[in-house]
Amino acid sequence: NSRILEVTSLKKYFPVKKGFLKRTVGHVKAVDDIHLHINEGETLGLVGESGCGKTTLGRCILRAIEPSEGSARFKDRKGNPVELTTLDPKQLRKIRRDMQLIFQDPYSSLNPRMTVLNIIGEPLLCNGIAKGEELRERVKRLMEMVGLNSRHLERYPHAFSGGQRQRIGIARALATNPRFIVCDEAVSALDVSVQAQILNLLQDLQEQLNLSYLFISHDLGVIQHISDRVGVMYVGKMVEMAETDALFNTPKHPYTEALLSAKPVPDPRAKSRRIILEGEVANPANPPSGCYFHPRCKYATELCKQKAPEWTEVGKDHYVACHLAGELELQGVHTQ
Ligand code: SF4
Repeated sequence: NSRILEVTSLKKYFPVKKGFLKRTVGHVKAVDDIHLHINEGETLGLVGESGCGKTTLGRCILRAIEPSEGSARFKDRKGNPVELTTLDPKQLRKIRRDMQLIFQDPYSSLNPRMTVLNIIGEPLLCNGIAKGEELRERVKRLMEMVGLNSRHLERYPHAFSGGQRQRIGIARALATNPRFIVCDEAVSALDVSVQAQILNLLQDLQEQLNLSYLFISHDLGVIQHISDRVGVMYVGKMVEMAETDALFNTPKHPYTEALLSAKPVPDPRAKSRRIILEGEVANPANPPSGCYFHPRCKYATELCKQKAPEWTEVGKDHYVACHLAGELELQGVHTQ
C-alpha cells in the first residue's frame, strides 16, 4: 500500500507558565512522540477519552497548530514526499489544498452571515481556482456531490438541519479537491440516524475520490464502523494501533481492553464485562513515571513504574506500547 502520510516522533508540548513574570515551569505533553502512517484511500481512526491529544495531533499534522518536534511527511500529487513541519507559509498554503479539516460542530463552524454559495465558494476564490459563473457552477456540483439541493445555494446556514450543515462543511472541505481529510468528531454533534447518513456519505466520497481520512472520535461504535485501522491514545501517547478487527477482537494493551469493555453490546442479556478503571486520568502536565497508565493498570509491574514502554510491532501492522504486550490474555469485543 502506498503511504500518503507518515508521521514520526511528532510532539506538541505546551508551556505551563506561572507567576507575574510568566516563567515556564513545565510542559503539557499534549502530543508525545507519536508514530503513525496512513495509506492512500484508507481511514485511520483515532480514539481516546477527551483531552487525550487526538485533536491536537490532527491539527499538528495539518499545521493548524505548530508541532514542537518530529516529522510529518505527506506525499504530494507527483508522488514526492513533502516534509510538512518545515514548510514556509507559501509552500504550506499550496499543499493545504490537498489537506482539509472537517470540524466537529456544524452549528458553529459555518459563518451564519454567509450564504452557502460563499461558504463553499470561499476556498475556490481564495486559492484562485474559480470565480464568477464558474465558481457558481462548481459550488452547485459540490452541493450535489454531498446530497444537497443545488438550488439552495443562496440560503444561509440557519435554513438547514444539522445533518445538512455538516454536508455543507464537507462540500467546503472538498472544494479544493483534497486527497487527505482530518475529520474531527465530524458526526458527534448529530443524531444517531443522521450520523449514519453522514458516515455513509464520507465512505462513498472516499471511494469515488480515493480520499484518505484521519477520523478522530471518542465514539467506539463510529470508529469501528468507518476505520480500516485504529489508533488508541492515552494522555498524549499512542498506546496501540492495529487493523480494526484485530484491535476490537484481540486488543493487546490494557487501556484498549478497558475502553472496549465500556462499548455497549447489542444483546441486552449479555453480562456486562465492563472494566472500571480506578484512579484519575493522568495529568499531562505532570504525568506518572514509567508507563503513564500504570496507576490505573491492573497488570502493572515494578518495571511499569520505572520505565516507559516502547512502541513495538507485535503482529502484522499491530503496534503496542506495553511491557507485557503479547503476554496478556485480554478481552476484546467480538465483531463477527
Ligand atoms: Fe499496564 Fe505495564 Fe502495560 Fe503500562 S506497561 S499498560 S502499566 S502492563
